[in-house]
Amino acid sequence: METRPTLEYAGVDEARDRLRSIVPAGRTELVPLASSLNRALANSITTDVDDPPFHRAMMDGYAVRSGDLGDGGVSLEVLGDIPAGATSNTEITEGKCVHINTGAPIPPGADAVVPVEDTTLAPDGRVLIQVGVAEGRHIARRGVNTRAGDVVLHAPMRLDAVAMGVAAAAGAAKLSVYSSPRIGIITTGAELVSPDCFPEGGQIRNSNGPQLRGLAESCGCIAIDFGVVEDDRKSLCTAIAAALEQSDILCITGGVSMGAHDHVPECLERCGVQLHIRKMRIKPGKPVHVGIAEGGQVVCALPGNPVSAMVGFHLLVKPTIDLRQNLNPFKNPHPVAKLSDAIKPTTNRTTLVPAHVAVEDDGSLHISPSSWRGSGDPFGCINANALILRPENAPAAEPGAWVRFLPTGSIFG
Ligand code: AMP
Ligand code: MG
Repeated sequence: METRPTLEYAGVDEARDRLRSIVPAGRTELVPLASSLNRALANSITTDVDDPPFHRAMMDGYAVRSGDLGDGGVSLEVLGDIPAGATSNTEITEGKCVHINTGAPIPPGADAVVPVEDTTLAPDGRVLIQVGVAEGRHIARRGVNTRAGDVVLHAPMRLDAVAMGVAAAAGAAKLSVYSSPRIGIITTGAELVSPDCFPEGGQIRNSNGPQLRGLAESCGCIAIDFGVVEDDRKSLCTAIAAALEQSDILCITGGVSMGAHDHVPECLERCGVQLHIRKMRIKPGKPVHVGIAEGGQVVCALPGNPVSAMVGFHLLVKPTIDLRQNLNPFKNPHPVAKLSDAIKPTTNRTTLVPAHVAVEDDGSLHISPSSWRGSGDPFGCINANALILRPENAPAAEPGAWVRFLPTGSIFG
């Protein structure tokens, strides 16, 4: 187990480096090709066949000997028809051709295809080829795309629709992928009631539970909600131990700050979780804690304020989900967009501002900070699809400035 000292009040880059070194890749499983969309490929796929597997007609027309045609205006005898899925061993000899369909194998002797548009069928069944044609024209040669034995999908990678098609062509009916991480969710706080209750006295509705479920499922994970736990050590320890049994990643919200009822970090350690990050230089989200349990589960203890919890998820949990599937979440730099409204200078913390990114008429990305009222206000973040990332000790940014952002939702859809 990693025994490096806990990072106290970690910067964003430090936290990323630590995550990269402590999060273990998870289990793998075999899934049918039809269920592999968005899964992370664990083993590379080698094709068992050349592609195309034969010299293939790329147009509907006539398979000819290019040397017979000169500049065109030549009449040829038509020996028959080769539909896709059929083969023909009839040799095409001088003055002869065969009608062929897209996807059919080129017969012996032919070395080009003349598209049907460039031909006229005569009443006697012969065909007038109007044009000359270069050798090899409209033929995809056997193996031009890939050869039997080639690796066509290199793990690790996330499987998209094109990759699924390639896997099919390579004969991979089952694929080895990383298991979708199971994300356990514990929300803490004596004040929390469920959405179907009307809050009385000092109660508030638990919005983090559903928000974290949505975030986890939108990342392809299996969310398991372990419900609300009160702020006492015994209940917390029992809940954490039970949730760890069923989770690959455990998200806890609330109870991580300095209050008299904030027992989560202490309870994590009591449950054998080694803390690697104890608070971060970020705003919002400073009290976040990250640790590794004895079974390798990653635990992210996020602040209770809903926007802080959301920020913590994007900064820490989302990369953890990728790392569990052997994917590199940090390979791309943060993109930039042009700022619409001024934003304040930052302090000694990286500041994350919920914002909406859109594509302008000129095709460039434009980013507008959400009108939110701080970390307790998820209402102001509706429609946010990004977090503007402002470095520590950055000056104010004026409208028109290019600022970096972390995408949190779809920008182009
Ligand atoms: P805490 O991090 O426990 O100190 O909570 C900070 C703030 O977030 C308090 O106002 C809590 O009432 C609120 N909060 C904590 N948990 C949740 C939750 N699950 N849903 C909505 N608000 C919460
Ligand atoms: Mg609390």
